[in-house]
Order: sequence, then C-alpha cells, then structure tokens
Amino acid sequence: MSLLRHLVTGGAGFVGSHLVDRLMQAGDEVICLDNYFTGRKANVARWIGHPRFELIRHDVTEPIRLEVDRIWHLACPASPVHYQFNPIKTAKTSFLGTANMLGLAKRVGARLLLASTSEVYGDPEVHPQPESYRGCVNTIGIRSCYDEGKRIAETLCFDYHRMHGVAIRVARIFNTYGPRMLPNDGRVVSNFIVQALRGEPLTLYGDGRQTRSFCYVDDLVEGLIRLMNGDHTGPINLGNPGEFTIRRLAELVRDRIDPGLALIEKPLPQDDPMQRQPVIDLALRELGWQPAVPLERGLEPTIAHFREVLEA
Ligand code: NAD
Ligand code: UDP
Repeated sequence: MSLLRHLVTGGAGFVGSHLVDRLMQAGDEVICLDNYFTGRKANVARWIGHPRFELIRHDVTEPIRLEVDRIWHLACPASPVHYQFNPIKTAKTSFLGTANMLGLAKRVGARLLLASTSEVYGDPEVHPQPESYRGCVNTIGIRSCYDEGKRIAETLCFDYHRMHGVAIRVARIFNTYGPRMLPNDGRVVSNFIVQALRGEPLTLYGDGRQTRSFCYVDDLVEGLIRLMNGDHTGPINLGNPGEFTIRRLAELVRDRIDPGLALIEKPLPQDDPMQRQPVIDLALRELGWQPAVPLERGLEPTIAHFREVLEA
C-alpha cells in the first residue's frame, strides 16, 4: 500500500507541530506549510532532512498546487493577542486560506480537516456547549476577526462538501495547552506559567471568575486523528470537559511554582466569554474519544517545557 501524503497547514505552530510528530511517527509523508507568523522552525527541526518530510514557507491566503491525500488545515493565529495584531489579516487567513485549501482538496480529491474553534459559540448563553448550539458571537467586536473567520471557514467547508462532494471534517477545538506554546503567546496557561517562573504576579483579567476548559495537546491531537480517519464530518467538539475558573487555574500554576506569588487583577478585554465547557458526547460516540490527561497532570510537562525555554 502506498504512503499517505499529508499537508499540515500551520504545521510549525503549537498544535500543528505535535500533529506533524504523530504523522511522521506513523510512517506517512508529511508536508508542513507555514508562514511562521506564530510558528517556529524549531518546532519541526527534528524532521528537517528526513526523506518523508518537507517544509514549505507559504501563506495560505495565496493558492498553492500540491499533490496530497489529506489536508489538516490549522493555519491561523489562535491567541487573542496574535489574532488581534492584524485582524484584517486574520479574517483573510480564515476566509481566503480555507477557500484556497478547499480548492486544493477539490482539485486533488483530498480529505480536509478544519481546525475550527469553540469561539464559534462566542459568549455562550447555553452551558455547557453542544454542537447543536448556534452561538452568540459579536460580529463587530475585537474577537470577531477570529470568531467570524472560523464561522465562515466552517460554512465554506460545508458548501464545498454539498456542491463539490469534498470530504470534510470539522473539529471545534476548545482551549488547548501544552509544550511548544510560545512564552509570549499571550494565552492564559502560558502567561501564568511564564509569569510564575519569572517570579512575577499572575495577571487575572477581570475578577478571574470566568471559566475555561483546558485540554492537553496530546489528547487533542489524538481526537483530530480519529476525526480525520473516521466517517463523521462533524462539526464535533474536541476539548476537556473539566471546567475551571481562571482564578483557580492561576492558583494551580502558582502553587506548583511559587506559592508566595500574588494574583493581580487587570481589565477584562472586550467580549471575553464568561464561561466555556464542551459537551463531548458526540466525540465519545462517533470517535470513541475522550481526554485522558486532567489539567493538574498536563501542567507538569508544560511547566517543564517553559522552564527549559526560559533557562536557555
Ligand atoms: P499557533 O499560533 O501556535 O499555530 C498557528 C500556525 O499557523 C502558526 O505556525 C502560524 O505561523 C501559522 N499561520 C498563521 N497564519 C498563517 C498563514 N496566513 N499562512 C500560513 N501559516 C499561517 O496556534 P495553535 O494553538 O497551534 O492553533 C492551531 C489551530 O487550531 C488554529 O487554526 C486555531 O484556530 C485552532 N484552535 C486552537 C486552539 C487552542 O487552544 N490551541 C483552540 C481552538 C482552535
Ligand atoms: N486571561 C487572564 N490572564 C492572562 C491571559 C488571559 O486572566 O494573562 C483570561 C482571558 O481574559 C480569558 C481566559 O483567561 O478569560 C482565557 O484566555 P485565552 O487568551 O487563553 O483564551 P480565550 O479567551 O480565547 O479562550
């Protein structure tokens, strides 16, 4: 049987590079495509020079011609700090980038998996969030470039599927953390760990009563692989249902690094969702998937990663 050829857009990023590792370890061919906005060559350095691996600097807002069997479409900044840096570019990345990748999938008959997000639920009025919930998204706020970008990306997937028969898989990913997040990533887990390791106070935005549900990256990648290989188009929630207030997360991180550190409050950004927790019944039923790593355990390798990065 011939090898499968995978294209991973955003493959030099946090989640993408863990996925590249899994696909390479499975013995397939992998093309990693990235514009290095928030990705790093170092994340995939171990594979450079491997006969089954190729690395391409490319921006998904431009079309590209490649012969591939599977497209894992992850290219898009995911941290609010980074996706708000150039919001017009973020919207273009989601819209044009997804249209280009679907065009490629159509041309070569590849199966495409979209890394969508729990942000399609916005600031949810239904809690926890099942896939059937249609969301509460502000179309004109500072998060809209990302939230609405992912919503139109989902729409494009389903229209390419209905019009052209493109095989699609849509994952709605909830907050994911782990080694290889950038120290300046801006998302909460990396911020708190880096602050604590530097002996600085941990910054709660607002009073820290808002909640998130944190999935360890290995669990997420396993879910993505099962979704791609399975028969269900989705959208399907992939996340860890363990829900924590941001204050509780800060305490967990602080207590593991330096229990003497202060927690300080900073202004809550506009449209920051108050609560978020996935219903994962569909993933369990369709993919036999549920996360195995609780937050308390996943923090350990994540802290170890940042310790190494900051010491280097
Ligand atoms: P990340 O920022 O580490 O990775 C994104 C990657 O995409 C980076 O390598 C970046 O350089 C690349 N990229 C960005 N714009 C590009 C463009 N125009 N052309 C080519 N490459 C581009 O983020 P991540 O956490 O690894 O997220 C990966 C995907 O998963 C994203 O699509 C994100 O929206 C989705 N997602 C992630 C989470 C999470 O908590 N990590 C949650 C929901 C959804
Ligand atoms: N947050 C915080 N301190 C930080 C960074 C983030 O309190 O230093 C909060 C943020 O306001 C949000 C939650 O943590 O309520 C998760 O933020 P993140 O940017 O990680 O992800 P998202 O808001 O996209 O879920």
